[in-house]
Amino acid sequence: MNQFASPPDWASQVDARHVAPDAAATRPMLEVEALCRRFGGVAAVEDVGFSVTRGEVICLLGPSGCGKSTTLRMIAGIERPDSGRIQIGGRAMCDSGAFLPPERRPVGLVFQDFALFPHLDVAANVGFGLQGPAPEKRDRVGALLERVGLSSHAAKYPHELSGGEQQRVALIRALAPRPCLMLMDEPFSSLDHRLRDGVRDATLDLLRESETTVLMVTHDPEEAMLMGHRIAVMRKGRLIQEGRPDELYNRPADRGVAAFFSDLNIVAGRVSGGRVQTSLGAFPAPGLAEGSPAEVVIRPQHLVPTEAGGTPARVERARYLGRESLIETRLEPGGAAMKSRVPGLILPAPGSLIHIAAQPDSAMVFAGDGE
Ligand code: ATP
Repeated sequence: MNQFASPPDWASQVDARHVAPDAAATRPMLEVEALCRRFGGVAAVEDVGFSVTRGEVICLLGPSGCGKSTTLRMIAGIERPDSGRIQIGGRAMCDSGAFLPPERRPVGLVFQDFALFPHLDVAANVGFGLQGPAPEKRDRVGALLERVGLSSHAAKYPHELSGGEQQRVALIRALAPRPCLMLMDEPFSSLDHRLRDGVRDATLDLLRESETTVLMVTHDPEEAMLMGHRIAVMRKGRLIQEGRPDELYNRPADRGVAAFFSDLNIVAGRVSGGRVQTSLGAFPAPGLAEGSPAEVVIRPQHLVPTEAGGTPARVERARYLGRESLIETRLEPGGAAMKSRVPGLILPAPGSLIHIAAQPDSAMVFAGDGE
């Protein structure tokens, strides 16, 4: 399949043909509805729906095997859904009556292994999907190479480039035909972690500058928060929650979503007088029935040693990690293990008794299973 052979300036072509001018500004660039795909009776993707507005970067986040890549591949047209609808730029890519093959979809693709053409030099790789007069193509390739600082590498072959340089070539090759939508599957995971931060920032700058709409797959929550205007969390083929990074971090739909973003401290209790009573104190439990089981979830950086008040906790270990210290304790009474992350060099002696408490409004309360 030629995955990069989109016609030039697809975005304006699709808009002009398929979207009324006044609707274009507000209409999502990507709309996915009730998407399903089964493999041998097992649901890889089940009833997934979301939309992405023009210029937005959305990250599909989830553990290995949750269906992220299958979702992206269906949007690209590489995988055929069993059912569901996909629209890009207001145009149906796939519904009950239509299925557009990948080469006719207005998308750019960037994969983990970059998939550069080894027999073409850098300039030919970047220009591969471009159509139109040669001078225009040359100008576009030249401008993109200059934008990412690779002008002097135009005549090199992919094997003569570093990993970071290959990533930049893959990115501008996908951007060159001005796709409506960029689909990126773990685009940074093959890069050395020291290189990754800089490459991510540069990629983000380029995507924002070109107002490109992006769907990016990642299993790295920090990367999703760094890159995404919005994050959609998947689990076992289903979309569990979507929202801004701060919404997912501070108001996760359940404990599983909360656990994606950090270690958790968890204490169980019952609702009484509108509050969950736990070994770490009482916490407001809006929406939970009186007497019902509940669990309180607190991130380690929000469970801190206190001068006065709090719950007694015996220190088991305390380690200095540079920017912060990690203190592991056991509650007294109760015996539950807790983790606290505190800034700087706070290292209480193992065996000593301290007091810990949740910072105000930091606890997340969910319905419990009663165990
Ligand atoms: P990862 O982060 O490991 O790439 P993922 O979230 O992208 O995982 P998918 O690649 O979408 O997950 O796979 C979802 C499920 O579908 C997995 O259980 C996988 O084994 C299964 N699957 C994917 N493609 C196929 C296929 N062609 N044939 C059979 N099963 C498949």
